[in-house]
Amino acid sequence: FLSRLRRAEPHLRSFLHVSPDEDVLRQARRLDEILQRNEDVGPLAGVIVAVKDNICTSDMPSTAGSRVLEGYRPPFDATAVRRIREMGGIVVGKTNLDEFGMGSTTESSAFQVTANPWDVSRVPGGSSGGSAAAVSARQCMVSLGSDTGGSVRQPASFCGVVGLKPTYGRVSRFGLMAYASSLDVIGCFSSSVFDAGILLQAISGHDTSDATSSKQVVPDFTSQFTSISLSESKPLKGLKVGLISETLEDGVDTGVASTIRAAASHLEELGCSVSEVSLPSFSLGLPAYYILASSESSSNLSRYDGVRYGNQAPADELNALYGDSRAKGFGHEVKMRILMGTYALSAGYYDAYYKRAQQVRTIVRKGFKAALDVYDILISPAAPSAAYRIGEKKNDPLAMYAGDIMTVNVNLAGLPALVLPCGFVEGGSAGLPVGLQMIGAAFDESQVQYQEDL
Ligand code: GLN
Repeated sequence: FLSRLRRAEPHLRSFLHVSPDEDVLRQARRLDEILQRNEDVGPLAGVIVAVKDNICTSDMPSTAGSRVLEGYRPPFDATAVRRIREMGGIVVGKTNLDEFGMGSTTESSAFQVTANPWDVSRVPGGSSGGSAAAVSARQCMVSLGSDTGGSVRQPASFCGVVGLKPTYGRVSRFGLMAYASSLDVIGCFSSSVFDAGILLQAISGHDTSDATSSKQVVPDFTSQFTSISLSESKPLKGLKVGLISETLEDGVDTGVASTIRAAASHLEELGCSVSEVSLPSFSLGLPAYYILASSESSSNLSRYDGVRYGNQAPADELNALYGDSRAKGFGHEVKMRILMGTYALSAGYYDAYYKRAQQVRTIVRKGFKAALDVYDILISPAAPSAAYRIGEKKNDPLAMYAGDIMTVNVNLAGLPALVLPCGFVEGGSAGLPVGLQMIGAAFDESQVQYQEDL
């Protein structure tokens, strides 16, 4: 893995930091010694993990893709990282992302743009583009990302890997640098659904360090998965699937729509009953998401003042120190979100924007609830198109935001969803992958685990 990581890295730029070989090999040797003593090495023994750089690691820099945190080394591991290490996982490095998770391409990283392994002239998606590309190119076995509005699912779709967004609260956010706290969740990338289940198992569960982490019992995801027998002719008999009709309408690439329809027919062949379901609130989610996410981020990012963390601009007076540190430290996209957020939260506009967006959030949540009372899972594309070219939407933020239409509603409702590669559209030299999004009821992650051979 280390040599493949290094060979691919000049072409992909998935990583912002790679552990020195000696550190990785020392951890592997320690596991060997434990094995030789016939002691338990843990369920992730020797699993090579990459971690998105907005998730804190005590032995590596953690920058969130921002100059404001350049050189910052947290004094602790995020709970998810700590659990992975306790179970024998080996963290090989930190992956590239859009600054603080704000973006859909990794182009707003302050440091580098990651390339899509399927066609290096294209974006890997974002914001967890580095984590998705790293799994896709087998630079690691699995990786952690974060999903505020689709940042695990959309890059999984663009890079042809499995991406799992757990239910809000399933995984502790302790040590995940906050973007929008009511939406953020740490998620998993892997090359099979089974691996995503193993990783989810490792990182799930209540954590006293995160007041929003849930006390719900964590089921055994992997045994639930293996209880489905793929040798039967109709292994998914009885599963009721709702195909969200609004997700296949205008604005969706025809190739993507037909790939998703083919996947729906395939689910029928496997025994599911699939019908179209209308979610009239579907298109309301995008504007509500951008108001809420920007508002929360404008508050969360106020902690980067040049004093508490990272880079400090030289100044002789306190306000100038704050101002210069933030002006130099934050990139364009982040500044735009802070401006949008403070505007939406300001006294004269609060009712018109923030409050209305919260009301829309309730409508979206109720729409999903009603549909998931009838269907076991809902399906849709993970993104309206396959991976597009680097630079194509860089100067058109609205076009980029519009690409999040398939994913943001799920965060507003806090639901779990899994993206599974389900076909290809034309593009690049080998075609470009398309992901099927499967949305489940809250805390019902096992219902979205469906896989055939990849
Ligand atoms: N692209 C979305 C945004 O920029 C989602 C990002 C995310 O999930 N972190 O806000």
